Amino acid sequence: MNLTGHLLIGAADVAATEGTMKALNPATDHLIEPDFAFGGAAQVDQAATLADAAFDRYSHTSLAERAAFLESIADNLDEVRSELAARAALETGLPEAQLEGEALKAATQFRQFADVVRRGRFLQLAIDPAQPQRQPRPRMDHRLQKIAIGPVAIFGASNFPISYSVAGGDTASALAAGAPVILKAHNAHPGASEIQARTIRKAVQTHGLPEGVFSMVRGGGNAIGEALVDHPLIKAVTFTGSEPGGMALYRRAQLRPEPIPVFTEMTSVNPTFILPEALAARGAEIGDGFIERMLVNVGQACLCPSILIAIRGAGFDELRNAMRKRVSEAPARTMLTPGIHGAYVEGLVAMESAGAQVIAAGKPADATFAGRAALLEIEGQHLLGEPALAHEVFGPSALLVAVSDAEELLAVARSFRGQLSAAIHLEDPDLELARRLLPILERRTGRIVVNAFAHPQEVTYATVHGGPFPATSDSRFTSVGMTSIERFLRPVAYQGFPDELLPQTLREGNPLQLPRSVDGQ
Ligand code: NAP
Repeated sequence: MNLTGHLLIGAADVAATEGTMKALNPATDHLIEPDFAFGGAAQVDQAATLADAAFDRYSHTSLAERAAFLESIADNLDEVRSELAARAALETGLPEAQLEGEALKAATQFRQFADVVRRGRFLQLAIDPAQPQRQPRPRMDHRLQKIAIGPVAIFGASNFPISYSVAGGDTASALAAGAPVILKAHNAHPGASEIQARTIRKAVQTHGLPEGVFSMVRGGGNAIGEALVDHPLIKAVTFTGSEPGGMALYRRAQLRPEPIPVFTEMTSVNPTFILPEALAARGAEIGDGFIERMLVNVGQACLCPSILIAIRGAGFDELRNAMRKRVSEAPARTMLTPGIHGAYVEGLVAMESAGAQVIAAGKPADATFAGRAALLEIEGQHLLGEPALAHEVFGPSALLVAVSDAEELLAVARSFRGQLSAAIHLEDPDLELARRLLPILERRTGRIVVNAFAHPQEVTYATVHGGPFPATSDSRFTSVGMTSIERFLRPVAYQGFPDELLPQTLREGNPLQLPRSVDGQ
């Protein structure tokens, strides 16, 4: 595909109005062609106006038509998979084979959401028929369905340049809900963003949908994101990135004349607890497995486990030695951007200043933005006195927390802020302690894994990728998995309607054969 560097606003390729940028290859520190356009508030307004104009037609597409559209995006992604992975590898320093896997995952998500749409369960259809004879007053016929919330602004993430970016799960779930999307491309991978955006636009055109169903904008600072969040025609926002960035956008949206939901996914250290019998039986194996997962994506994944808590005792030395060995063997690998690399280096310095001790370091970096792995250690009591030590250092580092007994382990668990996930390693004799730990973790995480790690993540109906603040800004929803569509839906009740005026989904006789509850059954 010939990259033009344009903004993609509806069907139009729009040239720069606010300057341009080139992509950076973080492995070589060299810029890559071509120039990519920056836009501003006027381009956001153009995209939002088109999205609003597209809304009525797109949100009323039949389930079959919308599912076919999502499948076309998947097919288009399959067609460009190799080219997309190659460009994303140049722009991120991530291995091409891994990025091919990401592209496959992205296409699969669109197919999974096509299935969600066809099944129609997301509409949560409910019918409470009229009760004309009811005393003391009759009940009217009530019918409910969920509809799309309106045009949605999506901030593409930096760390998974395909499956959490332009053609990622946020876009797939919003389009599945019937919501037009305006995508704010991340400047860390502009070429990969353009390839993905063009596959989505192609499907919009193939299916004869209104051009405003999808647009992609890009900007050279905060102004473009602020314009998106402020725009009165935007009705919801999703964001994956830093806590300060996410919170700035969240607060901004609440100050609008019409506040809107902002679903941010920001930070998580995914604490891992090893209970005593498991430590004694499998300390080395768990330590090795933990570091393997911590190193995924050079530690730049939301589910990387980065804090491990274990009680000193049988198996502790084996655990510690295995972690040290694995870290010291880890080659330094290119991080996503100079900014993320710089924040990682600073984060490690801050950890040391706060009293954590470096007990192992990976192989030295041989490139400017290569992240060197690190393992730090701290006593449980120290961590309890320095809560900032439990904050995320985004990159290939881990903190081993040595606690003296079960009570201290539970106290450390209570000290954590909200998390996307937590893991417990246990054997049968550990169950009693696990029962005490469980309610503490339930209050603080969206997902609890036993005798495994949060990686790899499945995308299913039961997937939860969310959690209490600051993991996300709204713990009631997940940003991955089939129920992530719920972020973009709202209920509408139809009362006393003649059958021919009802949406087909709610008509007598259930013409579309969809799952519906009738009188709660
Ligand atoms: P980021 O700096 O928060 O940026 C994410 C996106 O939001 C970018 O498109 C950025 O635009 C935009 N943005 C950020 N703050 C904004 C503001 N105040 N107003 C308007 N737009 C704003 O995140 P990042 O660049 O992906 O990575 C930086 C740090 O985020 C990492 O070091 C890491 O700590 C964290 N992070 C965490 C996760 C996770 O899953 N836990 C994932 C990714 C990143 P510009 O690029 O144009 O500024």
